[in-house]
Amino acid sequence: MSELIVGKNVVASVHYTGTMPESGEVFDSSEGRDPLTFLVGHGQMIPGFEEEIQGAKIGEKRTFTLTPDKAYGERQDEAMMKIPREEFSALEEESKLEIGMTLVAQMQHGPAPFTVTELTDDEVTADFNHKLAGESLKFAVEIIELRDADAEELSHGHVHGPNGHHH
Ligand code: ZN
Repeated sequence: MSELIVGKNVVASVHYTGTMPESGEVFDSSEGRDPLTFLVGHGQMIPGFEEEIQGAKIGEKRTFTLTPDKAYGERQDEAMMKIPREEFSALEEESKLEIGMTLVAQMQHGPAPFTVTELTDDEVTADFNHKLAGESLKFAVEIIELRDADAEELSHGHVHGPNGHHH
């Protein structure tokens, strides 16, 4: 039996810390939580993250920096939308709209988070770009566990079990 390595159709559990390469600011980390578990090769992760850990063994640590095209993509002007402020009237009864706040719009394809970037009396400018779009990102990753996916996981394209989907 050969030792499992990270590759397509393997379930990987990893600890990771993501930082901004220049400031060193941590934007996400699994530290203090369960490791992140995902099915490799099914588009569950940003592309560069999977590419950079290909072939890694359990216990291996890798550090890499991803350009935006390998992470959350470039920022897109089309993802900026002006929405009539009256659509927020229900919300505004409870709280104030403020620049920089993150809200979630219910779209046909599901929830879509956006950031309020501009406010006028009539309009709210909503930025649907991912917060990390346009950014290069640095990751430190440690492979905690690897196993083969089962047939059901492969057909669903995601992991089942304690750290995966429950359904
Ligand atoms: Zn499933």
